[in-house]
Amino acid sequence: MMTFEEIGIEERLVKAVTDLGYVNPTPIQEKAIPVLLSGTKDFIGLAQTGTGKTAAFGLPLLDLIDVAARHPQALVVCPTRELCLQIVSELELFKKYMTGMSVVAVYGGTSIGLQIRDLKKGVQVVVATPGRLIDLIERKAINLEQIKYVVLDEADEMLNMGFQDDIEFILQNTPKRDSTWLFSATMPQEIRRVSKKYMNQPVEVTVGKMNTANKNIDHQFYVTNAQHRYESLKRLIDFNPGIYGIIFTRTKLDAQQIADKLTREGYDIDALHGDLTQGQRDKVMGDFRDRSLQLLIATDVAARGIDVKDITHVINYELPDDIEVYTHRSGRTGRAGNTGICMSIVHSREIGRLRQIERIVQAPFHKLEIPTGKDVCRKQFFHFMDKLLQTDISHGDYETYMPTLSEKFADISKEEVLKRVAAMEFDRFLKYYENAEDLNVRERPIQRDRESGRGVRTSPTTNRFQQEGDTRRDTRGRTFGGNNGEFQRLFVNLGTKDGFYKASFLQFILDMSELNKESLGKVDMKEMNSWVEVDRRVATQMIQSIDGKKYKGRRIRMNDANSR
Ligand code: AMP
Repeated sequence: MMTFEEIGIEERLVKAVTDLGYVNPTPIQEKAIPVLLSGTKDFIGLAQTGTGKTAAFGLPLLDLIDVAARHPQALVVCPTRELCLQIVSELELFKKYMTGMSVVAVYGGTSIGLQIRDLKKGVQVVVATPGRLIDLIERKAINLEQIKYVVLDEADEMLNMGFQDDIEFILQNTPKRDSTWLFSATMPQEIRRVSKKYMNQPVEVTVGKMNTANKNIDHQFYVTNAQHRYESLKRLIDFNPGIYGIIFTRTKLDAQQIADKLTREGYDIDALHGDLTQGQRDKVMGDFRDRSLQLLIATDVAARGIDVKDITHVINYELPDDIEVYTHRSGRTGRAGNTGICMSIVHSREIGRLRQIERIVQAPFHKLEIPTGKDVCRKQFFHFMDKLLQTDISHGDYETYMPTLSEKFADISKEEVLKRVAAMEFDRFLKYYENAEDLNVRERPIQRDRESGRGVRTSPTTNRFQQEGDTRRDTRGRTFGGNNGEFQRLFVNLGTKDGFYKASFLQFILDMSELNKESLGKVDMKEMNSWVEVDRRVATQMIQSIDGKKYKGRRIRMNDANSR
C-alpha cells in the first residue's frame, strides 16, 4: 500500500492529511492523484461519495495551484449547495499549511453580492453550483480566462438535475484549461457524450462501488402492504431506540408529510428536500449533524453528497426508482469502519427489483419480520432500563433532596417506584401497541389439496398465521406443516446475543437456505446458541447452506444437534 508521500503530493499537504488521521490513500486517491498531478491529463473517475474522491481531486488541485497568482485557476462544479460547502470545508482542511491559498464557495439561494466581493479578493479555487456560476459569468463577476483546471464532481447527478447545458456552457467558457477532471458515480450516455466532446483522451479509472467494498452494511428488507408503509416505518424506528438515521423517500411531498406526521407524534425528525429555502436546509442539516434531530427524512437529490458521520440506519421508505441509487442511499451508513444497517420497506411485488439491487450491491439481503407491538415494547423497555442504569447522577446535588425523597416514598416499595418510572416512559408505547396488528405480508403456506394430495399455494395475505410459542398455528388454532413430525434437531451458534429475536432468526435461516416455513418445527433460542427442528428431508440442505457462512464477521456453525 502506498503512502501519501510516495504518491507525490507536496509536504504541506501530506502534513495536513496526516493531521486528519489519513494513513494511506484510498483506492481512488491512489489511482487518481498521480495522473492528476501531471496537470495536463484529462481524467474520468467513476467513484461515489464515501470513496475519498474529494481528496482524490482536492489534493492534486491544491498542489498545482500557483499561490502567488491571485486569480481563479481552478473551478470545481458540483450539483448542490451542501456538496459545495462540504468540498470547501475539506479543501480548507487540506490547505491549512499553505498560506495565501484561497478557496471560495459560490452557490444559489444566498447573496450574490457577497460572493462577488469574495471573488474580487483574489481567490485561486472556486467551488460552484452550475446555476450560480453561470449567473456570475454572465455578470462578468468571474474571470474564467485563466482557469487551468475544471473539476466536474457528481457529474451524473448534475445531468439528472438538468444542468447539462450549463455544464457545456462552463466548459465552453474555460478555453484555456489544461485539464478536465470528471467524477461520477455512474456513466450514462450523456456523460460519455460530454466527455467525448470536451475532453482529450481521458484516463479512466473505476473504483469498486462503495457498497461492494463495504461489508459493514447489513441489508434488510421488510415486506408489507402499501397502506402499512407508514406504520411499518414507525415500528422500525420504535424497535431501534438508539437510531441516528436517514429515511429516503421518492418525493418531496412524502418527505415533508411524513416528517410532519412523525413530528406530531413526538419524533425528533425533520425533512430535507428541494422545496426548502437555503436557510431552512442549513438549519435542518445543522440540527441533524449536532444530533438535535435523531432522524432526517430526505429525497435523493437533496441528500446527495452529504457526509454525516456515525449514521446507524438508512431506511428506504420506498425503493428508489433507479436501482443504482440504492447504493448511494445505503452508503450513508457503515462508514469509516463502523457497521450500519440499511432497511427497505417493500411491497411483495418489489421483491424482484430487490433481488436486482442485491446483485448490484453484491451483498446478501435479509428478509426480516416487521416487529410486533410486543417486540417493540420489550425492546423499548430494555433500552429504557439500560438508560436508567447508565444515568450519571454524580453531578447533581441529589443528596440534598434525599431526605425529602425518602420521606415521600416511605410507604412505597422499590418495585413500585420502578413500575411508576417505567410507566412514565412506557405507557405511550404500551397503549399504542396494545392491539397492534401484524404488518407483515406473508406467503400463505402450502395447503394440502385433499383430493389430489398436491400442494396449493394461495395468494399472499396479512396476518394469516400467528406465531404462538414454538408451534405455528392457523387462526383456528390448528397446527400445520407437511412433515408428519419427521423433524431433525439442528444446533446453530447464533442466538439472541447476535441481535436476533425469534421471528428474525427464523427468517434469516429460511432466507439463507431458501426453504419455507413449513420446513420448520420447534425453535429454541438462547443467548449464544439456538436449536431448530427442521423437516428431515431438507435438514441437509439447511446445514449445507448455512454452516460455514458468516454472520457479522463470525463463522456460523450448524450441525445435527444429536451429533454433538
Ligand atoms: P468523500 O468520498 O470525498 O466524500 O470522502 C468520504 C470520507 O472519507 C470523508 O469524511 C473523508 O474525510 C474521508 N477520507 C478521505 N480520504 C481518506 C483517507 N485516505 N483515509 C481516511 N479517510 C479518508
